[in-house]
Amino acid sequence: MISVTKTFLPPKEEYFKIIRQIWGSNQIANGGELLFDLQRKLKDKLGTSDPILTANGTIPLQIALKNLARNGEVITTPFSYVASTSSIVWENCSPVFVDIHPDLLTIDETKIETAITEKTTAILATHVFGNPCHVEEIEKIAKRNNLKVIYDAAHCFGVNYKGNSLFNYGDVSTCSFHATKIFHTGEGGAMFCKDEELYKKLFYSHNFGHKGELEFYGLGINGKMSELQAGMGLAVLPYVKGLIQTRKQQVKLYDETLNFKNLRRIVIREDTDWNYSYYPIIFKSEDKLLKVQKALNDKKIFPRRYFYPSLNTLDYIEFKEMKISQDISERILCLPLYAELQDQEIDLISKIINKVLSTS
Ligand SMILES: *Cc1c(COP(=O)(O)O)cnc(C)c1O
Repeated sequence: MISVTKTFLPPKEEYFKIIRQIWGSNQIANGGELLFDLQRKLKDKLGTSDPILTANGTIPLQIALKNLARNGEVITTPFSYVASTSSIVWENCSPVFVDIHPDLLTIDETKIETAITEKTTAILATHVFGNPCHVEEIEKIAKRNNLKVIYDAAHCFGVNYKGNSLFNYGDVSTCSFHATKIFHTGEGGAMFCKDEELYKKLFYSHNFGHKGELEFYGLGINGKMSELQAGMGLAVLPYVKGLIQTRKQQVKLYDETLNFKNLRRIVIREDTDWNYSYYPIIFKSEDKLLKVQKALNDKKIFPRRYFYPSLNTLDYIEFKEMKISQDISERILCLPLYAELQDQEIDLISKIINKVLSTS
């Protein structure tokens, strides 16, 4: 069976060697040596501020919204994983959708300003598939309108924009280290923030507000990463560069073997050093997508419909049409992409797709 992704597991001896020290220190949670080590290595490797490491990639979105969006309206993209919208609603804020660029698939910054009202407090945009939003223009809009910017950078591990980590943009930038993402800690995540005052708030928020044992610094929740998770991160991290390199080759092979007469790829923003996190293809119609999906499934190949449905159509949202996002989400499919995927398998996938599209 070939799935859209397969979790990379480091050699188990390497993981065991790293976590062995827990039996000496007896510290398995609440920021021990492994967490501090991972935090330091991520900062050095990525060139960011100190990341706040979290239990998953959703809790940092919630913490950022709690601190910055204050129950207001949050301008957001309808084309993302459900967590970016559900977090807004979960935090008692109102999502206000702005449609996406048809080629880049990121929020269309030229449509943001007309969606702003006096209730708007923040913009939560996703660098979808690791493709950067127009960060400069969004920053200008936010400044002009006194709004906060949160980036859901769940797909962006290792992505640089204009030579700078994508995590360095926005008031807060969040990442997911879920098992399906390029760099993972099993479950896990992080938030990045350059402003010292805000960093403190976010940091205390992710540990119940604890400032020491008896003192509290505002409202908090439990969003902490454990030592077991940090240990997995330390074991995976040395492999990430190689994993991205492999993906680059695989993407090239898909590019060379797929027939793009009836298909298109997304466009990656200029000046981006991409991480090849996904291989989405856009069909001419949903009907074609379904035919291809069926032909692949028949051969035990399971691509995924990232991202479907368009988030403005969720049943807990007041529906407002988002033409481009709804249209794209009906006909976009992510092809398998992971380290162990063989060249012959990519070849086979391309052949099946080409055949279905040439005969339907
Ligand atoms: C994976 C993902 C998340 C959620 O991350 P978890 O670690 O699974 O909580 C949020 N946003 C996007 C865009 C994602 O792809």
